[in-house]
Amino acid sequence: MSAEKKEENHQASEKNDVLKSTQTVIHLALDKLGYPEEVYELLKEPVRMLTVKIPVRMDDGKVKVFTGYRAQHNDAVGPTKGGIRFHPNVTEKEVKALSIWMSLKCGIVDLPYGGGKGGIICDPRDMSFRELERLSRGYVRAISQIVGPSKDIPAPDVFTNSQIMAWMMDEYSRIDEYNSPGFITGKPLVLGGSHGRETATAKGVTICIHEAAKKKGINIQGARVVVQGFGNAGSFLAKFMHDAGAKVIGISDAYGGLHDEDGLDIDYLLDRRDSFGTVTKLFNNTITNQELLELDCDILVPAAIENQITEKNAHNIRASIVVEAANGPTTLDATKILTERGILLVPDVLASSGGVTVSYFEWVQNNQGYYWTEEEVEEKLEKILVNSFNNVYDTSQTRRVDMRLAAYMVGVRKMAEACRFRGWI
Ligand code: GLU
Repeated sequence: MSAEKKEENHQASEKNDVLKSTQTVIHLALDKLGYPEEVYELLKEPVRMLTVKIPVRMDDGKVKVFTGYRAQHNDAVGPTKGGIRFHPNVTEKEVKALSIWMSLKCGIVDLPYGGGKGGIICDPRDMSFRELERLSRGYVRAISQIVGPSKDIPAPDVFTNSQIMAWMMDEYSRIDEYNSPGFITGKPLVLGGSHGRETATAKGVTICIHEAAKKKGINIQGARVVVQGFGNAGSFLAKFMHDAGAKVIGISDAYGGLHDEDGLDIDYLLDRRDSFGTVTKLFNNTITNQELLELDCDILVPAAIENQITEKNAHNIRASIVVEAANGPTTLDATKILTERGILLVPDVLASSGGVTVSYFEWVQNNQGYYWTEEEVEEKLEKILVNSFNNVYDTSQTRRVDMRLAAYMVGVRKMAEACRFRGWI
């Protein structure tokens, strides 16, 4: 590889470094709010980061050693909170960035939590049910000293689900010698899960889309929507938009995309997707994920992975509204380009905060031992997200900053104040 090519690659990977990008925006947000440099020094990295090795007896009798992480960004406001992802591309840096994003989400929707995040480097698509159980239990044993219902409360994330939460809750309860439903959220209903938790992220994104559409004067009835990713967030979201009368003209999974100008048959696709959100393998006529992002539409929802909209394709995005259901799908350069082009970008830390909001409801119900109806959950979620959206939108208008910076300013303020009152800074 030539020296220039190497330098180019290095610059690209620096730009797509999610930890660096989030630190850049936190720094800008704290500057705008008038906080001194030491606040940034404290908030730019998690206060605690644990790396663990988890030996798991595989079905063939051999032991495989997995690496896992748990990051706790800041616990000034309250216990830390955030999901655990099982994915081959998990890295320490990514988990750190994700824990910071969780702090911001909790700040934006005003929950009494700081942010946390966990991850295990593994590919659950290649593991059996029992291997996954042993890995889940092993991870909880490895991190048990730093987690707990009033210390750090995990939840589902990429490729983890309510079954995995159930095993983890059971393992923690054995260690604690107590039934501890409040240790983890996203559990099955019979183990103290909350109504509405499974669809909460998608519901939150839907509420943000409705609010953003009002600002842009777009009617949801007949609006053309493209959703990248058909996992928990993407698939339910496609369904909600379809049910609201929008035309979902494009969806995709990790293997490709489907496009139909007349609107896709979402119910059929939901029925055929597997538990990892794969559906396009059943079709021959697919488009690439890049082609999908550049489709002519009103609303584009990246609901898959990081760094999908970059300075390379931001000029070709044809949507009027981009709503980030995934964590970190748009780079900072691309954010600038989209904003300059008049596209309303609803950032991840706001758009995807419905999941942790209903997780908070689940934890409150566990602590009280008193459970709410689905209607109560939905009503409370709607109120919180509509307020949060408008708070971020108004901040972006009055402070003349893009929606991402506005969301960071709203998200970081309470945390910085809590650190100050505690006498940490
Ligand atoms: N993993 C989800 C997120 O990134 C939910 C976290 C939670 O429910 O605590 O927001």
